[in-house]
Amino acid sequence: MNNIKMFLVRYAEIGTKGKNRYVFEDILCKRIRNRLEALGEFKVWRDFGRIYIEAISDYDYDEAINRLTKIFGIVGLCPVTVAEEFTYDGIKKAALEHFEETFGNAADNKFNGYNFSFKVHSRRVNKDFPMNSMEIDMEIGHDLLEAYESEGLHVDVHKPDVMVEVELRGEKAFVYSRIIPGPGGLPVGTNGKAMSLLSGGIDSPVATYMIAKRGVEMEAVYFNSPPYTSQRALEKVEKLGQIVAQYSGPIKFYNVNFTDIQLCIYDNCPHDQLTIIMKRIMFQIAERLAAKDECQAIVTGESIGQVSSQTMQSLGVIDAAVECPVYRPVIGMDKQEIVEYSQRIGTFETSIEPYEDCCTIFVDKHPVTKPKMFAIEKSEKKLVGKIEELIDKAVETAEEKWLK
Ligand code: ATP
Ligand code: MG
Repeated sequence: MNNIKMFLVRYAEIGTKGKNRYVFEDILCKRIRNRLEALGEFKVWRDFGRIYIEAISDYDYDEAINRLTKIFGIVGLCPVTVAEEFTYDGIKKAALEHFEETFGNAADNKFNGYNFSFKVHSRRVNKDFPMNSMEIDMEIGHDLLEAYESEGLHVDVHKPDVMVEVELRGEKAFVYSRIIPGPGGLPVGTNGKAMSLLSGGIDSPVATYMIAKRGVEMEAVYFNSPPYTSQRALEKVEKLGQIVAQYSGPIKFYNVNFTDIQLCIYDNCPHDQLTIIMKRIMFQIAERLAAKDECQAIVTGESIGQVSSQTMQSLGVIDAAVECPVYRPVIGMDKQEIVEYSQRIGTFETSIEPYEDCCTIFVDKHPVTKPKMFAIEKSEKKLVGKIEELIDKAVETAEEKWLK
């Protein structure tokens, strides 16, 4: 492939009625433009509930598909052949070309050559055309059969394998037949901003993806404990952020030096409570960075019962450390389900690279699983007078960069 110069974008319209619909569509157009910018010159516009993408210059088709199928808000993508002439012969030529392009290439064809059933469905937005929809259906169907019947092509008007769409708009005729699925969701930028606690594990990249999928712009924070954790561990987290950014758009990323805080907790608090207290402070720092950047929530990859700090009691105590909402989109998912999700979005292979996390280095052999708020608060009193300054410093010295 490919001579395809145009795509029709299908998107979900739920929740986008009335005035908001245009906001949604404009943001989706902007996302599409941003993602295609590096590949060539494209025109992206909306027209009566549809979005069209037209390539003005040469471009890499496969890379364009790769990028477009990662844009939230896109439900399906139809490669379109545009008729050179707005006449019946023009449409016929486009339909034959489209077939050749779409089904002639064995590697890109889920059917065996042209051995499948089809139906033509045409729509005239421009009623000036001298034939009506039914006539176009019949004639194009006939022409396609004539060309490919000997290779197995046949008509099925009830349950066709392939629906060949012919669309007449303005002075243009479009032919398309394939829908390449997109990720669905809502375009990023339609639903505020959130700060994700991004570690190098399997769960938090999935959680970040899931919230971004609902249209939320993402930032991320990573707590790093050099020299107990390595540069490689940081690079791994950045790589995960970059994979998620292919979907969510650029992610503002904070690398927080957490070493002194961890040592302070280690020196002053009971060791079976380390993880809980550490998480509470992570949340507080995340909340500060979130407030600075006007993020409305923090996001984590926690799932009920997965580890001691994710029991119902632990989650409750950790939650109480902050005032802002905490979203945990994988909360009810089994580990295996999260693994499958991460494989699907492409973060899994990076997540399982074996670099240490700051949480695992300072963990106790027998951490509390049912922490009590009063006990944790009592332990945290021992940090008073020391920890505030360390937290301020961690926030102030956080290194900032964009992952894309
Ligand atoms: P993940 O697979 O996302 O690393 P996990 O199963 O290892 O999660 P924990 O280590 O208990 O679980 O962490 C729970 C959540 O806390 C993570 O999903 C992440 O959102 C956050 N978190 C943990 N460690 C860090 C860190 N070093 N930096 C930023 N966030 C962290
Ligand atoms: Mg982890």
